[in-house]
Amino acid sequence: MIQPQDDSSLAIEALIDLDHPIKVDVAKWAAENLHDPALADRDQACEFWPEGWQRAADKGITGILVDPVYGGGGADVITGLLTYEGLGYGCRDAGLVFGLITQAWTMQPLLAQFGSEEQKQRYLSPLCSGDKKGAFCITEAESGSDTFAMTTQFETVSDNTEERYLLSGHKSYVTMAPEADLFMVFATSNPDLGQWGITVFLVDADTPGLTVSSNRPKMGLRTTPFADVTFENCELGPENVLGSVGSGASLFSNAMESERAFVLASQIGAMEYQLDQAVSYTRERRQFDQPIGDFQAVSHRLANMKLRHDNARLQLYRAAILHSVGKPSMAAAALAKIQASEASIASSVDAVLTHGARGYVTEFGVEQDLRNVAGGMVYGGTSDVQRNIVARWLGNRNR
Ligand SMILES: Cc1cc2nc3c(=O)[nH]c(=O)nc-3n(C[C@H](O)[C@H](O)[C@H](O)COP(=O)(O)OP(=O)(O)OC[C@H]3O[C@@H](n4cnc5c(N)ncnc54)[C@H](O)[C@@H]3O)c2cc1C
Repeated sequence: MIQPQDDSSLAIEALIDLDHPIKVDVAKWAAENLHDPALADRDQACEFWPEGWQRAADKGITGILVDPVYGGGGADVITGLLTYEGLGYGCRDAGLVFGLITQAWTMQPLLAQFGSEEQKQRYLSPLCSGDKKGAFCITEAESGSDTFAMTTQFETVSDNTEERYLLSGHKSYVTMAPEADLFMVFATSNPDLGQWGITVFLVDADTPGLTVSSNRPKMGLRTTPFADVTFENCELGPENVLGSVGSGASLFSNAMESERAFVLASQIGAMEYQLDQAVSYTRERRQFDQPIGDFQAVSHRLANMKLRHDNARLQLYRAAILHSVGKPSMAAAALAKIQASEASIASSVDAVLTHGARGYVTEFGVEQDLRNVAGGMVYGGTSDVQRNIVARWLGNRNR
C-alpha cells in the first residue's frame, strides 16, 4: 500500500523534486504491474481492462484520498497527485488511468464530503476496494458547457411516510458508464430554475428504468468505456439524495473547483515519460552520420517539451497547495488545466515529429499519446470555459 507522508514540507518537495519517492515508487509499480501486452489491440477494439483496475485498487490507488475508515489510503491532496503522476508515468493504458483518476477526484470527494454515513458505507468502501465502479453524470446532448441548462428531471412524489422521487432524462458522454455499478446523477426539479433546481442522486445500476447505451468509440482514451445513460421513471428515495435536495449547484462547484485540474496529474506523468522516450530516441537514431539529437532543430524541440512539462507541473502543484491551505484556487486550477491539456497536445505533436514515421504508426505507442490527450481540452470544462474563469478573475465580465 502507498504510505502517505504527513509532512508540511511535502508540498515544496513535490514542487521541486521530479523524482519524489512517492511518484517514483508508483511509477515503478505501474510499469511492472499494469503492463498489458494486449494494450494496442484493446485500444483498437475500445476494450477496458478490469484486471488492471482491480490491481490498482489492491495497491490502494483507487481510494488513495479516502478516509481509512472506508478502506481508503487517507492521503492528502499532494500525495494523491504524486501517486497519479507516477501512475501516468508508469502505465501506458491512459484509458485505464483516466477512469481511475476521474473517479478518485470527482465522485469520491463528493461522497466523502456530502454523503451520509450509510451512503459512505454503501458506496465509498466498495469504490475503494474495486468491488464497485462509479460514473459521474452531468452532461446532456443539449447541455454541455451550459451545465445548468440540463433537462434530466426529477418529480417529487410523497407517500404518507416520506418523499420519493421519479428521475427521467438522458445523460451523454459518461466515462465508465458501461462498467459502472453506481451513477452520480445531476438532475433538476424544474429546468426553469437553472442552478437553483439541481439535486444530486446516487443511482444503482440495477435500478429499474436505468439503461446504458453501448460503448461509444472515441478518438483517444479508447480503453475507458464511455456511453450515454437513460433514466425512465427511476424510483428513488431520500437515501439516494447526496447532500440535500436543491444543493446540486454547490456540489458541482465543489467538485469542479480544483479537481478539474487535478484529473490531469496523470497526464503530466505521461508527458514526462513521453519526453524521456523522445530523448532516448534522439540519442539512438542516426541520420546523416550523426544522432538526430545533434541537430539543433531536434534538440530545441526536446527543450520545448521540457519547458511545457515543467510549466504544467508547477501550475498543477501550485493549484494543489492553494487548495490544500484553503485559499481560493479556482483561477489557479483553471490556468493549470489549460496549461496541462494544451501543453500535452503540443508536446505529443513534437513527439510524433521527433520519431518520424515510427511516431505515426501504431505499433510504437507514440501516436496514441496525441489521441489520448486531445480530450483534456474538453472534459472537466473546455479550454474556452477555463479562459472565461481566468478572465473573470482578472476582472473581465464574460459568460
Ligand atoms: C473524454 C471525455 C470524457 C468525458 N466524461 C464525462 C463524464 O464522465 N461525465 C459527464 O457528465 N461528461 C463527460 N464529458 C463531457 C464533457 O464534460 C463535455 O464535453 C464538456 O463539458 C463540453 O460540453 P460539450 O461537449 O457539449 O461542448 P459545448 O459546450 O457545446 O461546446 C462547444 C464549443 O463551444 C465553446 N463554448 C461553449 N460555451 C462557451 C462559453 N460560455 N464561452 C466560450 N466558449 C464556449 C466550447 O469551448 C467548445 O469549443 C466527457 C467528455 C470527454 C471528451
